[in-house]
Amino acid sequence: MIVMKFGGTSVKDVAAVQRLIGIVRRDPRPRVVVVSALSKVTDALLETGRLAEAGDANGAREAVRALHRRHVDMAALVSQPNRRAELVAATDALFAELDAIVHALAVVEEVTPRSADAIVAFGELASSRIVAAALEDAGIPARFVDARKVLVTDAAHGAAQPDRPATEERTGSLVRPLVDGGVVPVLGGFIGSTAGGLTTTLGRGGSDYSAALFGAALAAEEIQIWTDVDGMLTADPRVVGSPRVVPRLSFDEASELAYFGAKVLHPSTILPAVGLGIPVRILNSHRPEAKGTLITAQADGGVAGPVAIACKRGVTRIDIASSRMLMAYGFLRRVFEVFERFRTPVDVVTTSEVSVSVTIDDRRALDGIVGELRAFADVSCDDGMAIVCAVGERLRGDAQLATRILGALEGLPLAMVSQGGSRTNITVVLPDALVKEAMESLHRRFFETSPDPEAAPRGAAA
Ligand code: ADP
Ligand code: ASP
Ligand code: MG
Repeated sequence: MIVMKFGGTSVKDVAAVQRLIGIVRRDPRPRVVVVSALSKVTDALLETGRLAEAGDANGAREAVRALHRRHVDMAALVSQPNRRAELVAATDALFAELDAIVHALAVVEEVTPRSADAIVAFGELASSRIVAAALEDAGIPARFVDARKVLVTDAAHGAAQPDRPATEERTGSLVRPLVDGGVVPVLGGFIGSTAGGLTTTLGRGGSDYSAALFGAALAAEEIQIWTDVDGMLTADPRVVGSPRVVPRLSFDEASELAYFGAKVLHPSTILPAVGLGIPVRILNSHRPEAKGTLITAQADGGVAGPVAIACKRGVTRIDIASSRMLMAYGFLRRVFEVFERFRTPVDVVTTSEVSVSVTIDDRRALDGIVGELRAFADVSCDDGMAIVCAVGERLRGDAQLATRILGALEGLPLAMVSQGGSRTNITVVLPDALVKEAMESLHRRFFETSPDPEAAPRGAAA
């Protein structure tokens, strides 16, 4: 059994859904299909929530009408009249419900994270109904399954965490019997609900995570992430001119890259696959014949050095200095307890005898954090920084690597440099305005001279 997840651009219009049908048809294995909202719909729904919160009832309802029209137009995919009428009626009902919610929220001018989740879930609910009907119409037995009944989460609206055992049980009772009966279940990604039935979402880009959770619950043989690029690329194509495809990655490499900005994969996706050793494949729905990227437990052979570089932009650096840190123990604990109390993850950390520097990308609690740190340290913050990192399982095989990376970044003002004990990445922090320059320079150094003359064979000298 395989799980096939199609992202927003892979369901964005009639032509995209037709490609999806072709891809699902080609694979004879039992399949589960997971889809995102149509491209840009999640953004539009979030904007609708903002309009409602601002009390702009007309603006919010006009936005709902536009989304309704776009989804009804997609029903043209379906040629069988009864099926099309059924799809249009289901879509009308969904958007009538959304309209009522948005109207009510605009009256009270308040959109809580809980109501925002209720609004934003309509994107995946609508797209999954359309794709299920389109597959059926194309002669592939398929059935819409409300993902909120299957994916059980905690109540952290906007970034809910899955309840894996409960989700496994629901997948077993609601999804597996369909697959066993030769039917393709079609579920929306990204959405779930609490045990009490409140709609939740997994955070932006979370459909990948849903696919992996369903894949793990079904012990699938493979999880496929169908998107709009040829796989994991050696760098973000929006930052670097012509990155290459990385054919093979280890779970660790993929999760580091995802965490440090490779948007093609939600950072949590790999997690459910790791325990069960389920391979994850990233594939291009525009070029289904391309090989894509295969992510498995083991790294591939090949060349030492980074497999790819990534960047995370718009992060804040916080410098925390204490003269009392000299020879003091307990200082780091106090510092990190503050971040823990404010539930703010720290990405990069460097320390010296008298100071600690950290980066965060979630600034919501920054004022509170700085206030508490100032009770025992001097603190300064710098917005507008970025993390650039080179990732590779075999970085440790190359004694010259740090020199080569820093050499490629020569002349750029590096605010922090860090290499972890596991050495699957080397990370630098620098002003955001210099990210493009840094990434291009690293990319030229490691991926555009092929083969890299200084690279040792991968696997040599660990
Ligand atoms: P989907 O809608 O299919 O989930 P996303 O927009 O979430 O697609 O992710 C795909 C996009 O991720 C690509 O179009 C690309 O711009 C971006 N991206 C960033 N870094 C990378 C990378 N290293 N490799 C591939 N794509 C990347
Ligand atoms: N539709 C959601 C988003 O845009 C989830 C996803 O696409 O993975 O964030
Ligand atoms: Mg995505």
